[in-house]
Amino acid sequence: MEDRILGLHHITAIADQAKRNLDFYINVLGLRLLKKTVNFDDPGTYHLYYGDERGSAGTILTFFPYEGARRGRPGAGMATQIGYAVPEGSFDFWMDRFAALDVHFDMPSEKFGEQILAFRDPDGLQLELVVPESADDRKPWETAEVNAGVATRGFHSVTLTLNDVKPTAAVLTDIFGYKLLEQQGNRYRYITDAVGTAAIIDILEVPNAPRGVGGAGTNHHIAFRVKNEEILMAFHEKVASSGLNITNKIDRNYFYSLYFREPGGVLFEIATDNPGFGIDEPFDKLGSSLLLPPQYEANRAQIEAVLPKLN
Ligand code: ZN
Repeated sequence: MEDRILGLHHITAIADQAKRNLDFYINVLGLRLLKKTVNFDDPGTYHLYYGDERGSAGTILTFFPYEGARRGRPGAGMATQIGYAVPEGSFDFWMDRFAALDVHFDMPSEKFGEQILAFRDPDGLQLELVVPESADDRKPWETAEVNAGVATRGFHSVTLTLNDVKPTAAVLTDIFGYKLLEQQGNRYRYITDAVGTAAIIDILEVPNAPRGVGGAGTNHHIAFRVKNEEILMAFHEKVASSGLNITNKIDRNYFYSLYFREPGGVLFEIATDNPGFGIDEPFDKLGSSLLLPPQYEANRAQIEAVLPKLN
């Protein structure tokens, strides 16, 4: 089982103001700030990681907040909606909370027989809370205002908007081991049985949808999870031999990664469990200080001077 893709690892999106992004995900949604670091390709920009207590794969949402970033436009060739699992009976809490805190949300509806509550972050990123068919027993991060009875458990699913379902579905099924679970109209649900959570990819097929435009409020890429580097490199071989261009292994400090653009245009990453978020600070202190990869440590003072204040 463990040589397979183990569902989602993380999702990375783009935001405008870092402080507003942090306030929303920590204070409103009740996630844990896992890591406060910089974009390794652009150290004048934060890279903020949110998730559960230990930064478990399948709970990790990360942002590159660019101050003054233009809004993007979700569209074809993009991940367009992120689903978080929540307990049954929690929607009243969340609707009251969203109403009180001026969060844009829709009335509850249903997808594939599961209750959903769609909402948006301050940049317009489309998210939804989902009550899964069978309860999600992952241990949530709790805050004073968002307790375990209502807290998000981590990812339930992510939706990709595509002009044509087939080429992307082939990557999911033939390379990643997902299966088509169900189709409702133009929505296709793919699932892996390698894991019990964060196991779903929905594809929304919209033949005439314009291409998405990257920017604040859009997803940059989605990352699939593998156990270790040996399995990562086995997937390098599988993806490359299918004719797709894939990067070499990249050290992301908290995981090792490969990237490739799937035929529908979505940037896919494959990322390892190791070494994890405890590599540069203890688990009880995650997110408490600005962490820089070794190559930027010498420039810490300059980097701290240009990064926006978070509190
Ligand atoms: Zn990533």
